[in-house]
Amino acid sequence: MTHDSNASGSERLWRQSPSPHVSASPIDHLMDRISPERRSENMRAIRGRDTRPERIVRSLLHTLGYRYRTHLARLPGRPDVVFTRRRKAVFVHGCFWHRHPGCTKAYTPKSRQDFWQRKFEGNVARDEAAIRALENDGWSVLIVWECEAANPDRLAHTLTNFLGPPIYSAREIND
Ligand SMILES: [Zn+2]
Repeated sequence: MTHDSNASGSERLWRQSPSPHVSASPIDHLMDRISPERRSENMRAIRGRDTRPERIVRSLLHTLGYRYRTHLARLPGRPDVVFTRRRKAVFVHGCFWHRHPGCTKAYTPKSRQDFWQRKFEGNVARDEAAIRALENDGWSVLIVWECEAANPDRLAHTLTNFLGPPIYSAREIND
């Protein structure tokens, strides 16, 4: 009798313990509070321009004091952020669509796996071709993955390492 009630008590505790927010990034946490309609809109936006991680990267660059251009159409792959005088380009890639290696967001949906596989391979091939074309033309390229936007301190370090220090000069402001 006593034993049984203890067992059900501990089972109840165990069932309560898994916390959905333990491993959630701030972005995931934000997504939890967004309505389903808004969320699917966001999921669609991941493939388009001006996505949430991209806004995070741009506002971080601005805070750090860098001047940049966005989406220069004449460059291969139309990089998300471009530093023309430094000849450096940044792509902000969604982990799912662009297949961030080893990332949990880069899962493959269970249904229509052939469809997804073809789609992913096409995306990755296009990304690689754009990077190769840019590098062949003397550009340095940095990929910022969507999940990296959840850690602004680390991302700031990565961006500064890639770009070198921001320069406050009249010429740079026009960069
Ligand atoms: Zn990722």
